[in-house]
Amino acid sequence: MISVLPSILDVAQKYGLTFHAKSYGRKETLCKCPFCREDARKPKKHYLSLNTEDNLYKCWFCKEAGGVLDFEVKLSGKSFNAVKEQYFGKVRKSLHPAYQLNPYQLKCIGWQNYKRISFNGFLQKREHVLKDWKQFVHDELVTHYALFLCIAHLENQNERQKELMTWFIRKCWTSPIPAMYDQVQNAFLGRYEDLKDWAAEGTELGRSAWRVCLKTMDIDLDSLFLNILFLKALTKIDDKKRHNPKRKVSQKKLYNKVKDTKRHVKIQI
Ligand SMILES: [Zn+2]
Repeated sequence: MISVLPSILDVAQKYGLTFHAKSYGRKETLCKCPFCREDARKPKKHYLSLNTEDNLYKCWFCKEAGGVLDFEVKLSGKSFNAVKEQYFGKVRKSLHPAYQLNPYQLKCIGWQNYKRISFNGFLQKREHVLKDWKQFVHDELVTHYALFLCIAHLENQNERQKELMTWFIRKCWTSPIPAMYDQVQNAFLGRYEDLKDWAAEGTELGRSAWRVCLKTMDIDLDSLFLNILFLKALTKIDDKKRHNPKRKVSQKKLYNKVKDTKRHVKIQI
């Protein structure tokens, strides 16, 4: 990866600017201005001046001016960051991942306001923020994988399956987790040995939800989905109580809790 700024002459050449032959390579190299094009029909005029020593450009007619990166941004139509990355690589990589979370993502884990009110406090708690985010991503993937499995295994209900898959894909699109649907689908299509933690947990969750349905003889899909969401929420509560995220909750206990709680709640999917 190159780590110096490109020369303004190279950039001008890359984008096919028309040079004033005699001035080419001098400290002040003249070109036809690609921004205003006022000199396009004036054979002797070249309004854009490239300062090859300081790597700057300026048009004497339209006053468009700036540095070499900005020049390439305007010529290429790419974003400033994209152009910068061409020459300096991804600078963001060196940033702590907690800083890269967008406001929507921070909102999902309850850190958005905190960051707004106290940025320094946020900087100090970045490890905590990152831990919360990773946990959130994990939980979301588990739940979505369980949902996906239920939809994928629907038999003899093609129409309903299509409808649910559309719903599911849309749900993934609006998720704050990047490429949620791809991750879920790849896990589903991949080899069992390569199954990620969340996919294994999601499989277990889907099965548990199904078992609860069998026990209650309540075998429609809405109940199944409801069970998944409940079981996930309950596992979380139980984990918190025990301060042990790895421990599994007993099947029977979950079943009783689901039975109790379901009476009071309806979830629209
Ligand atoms: Zn101009």
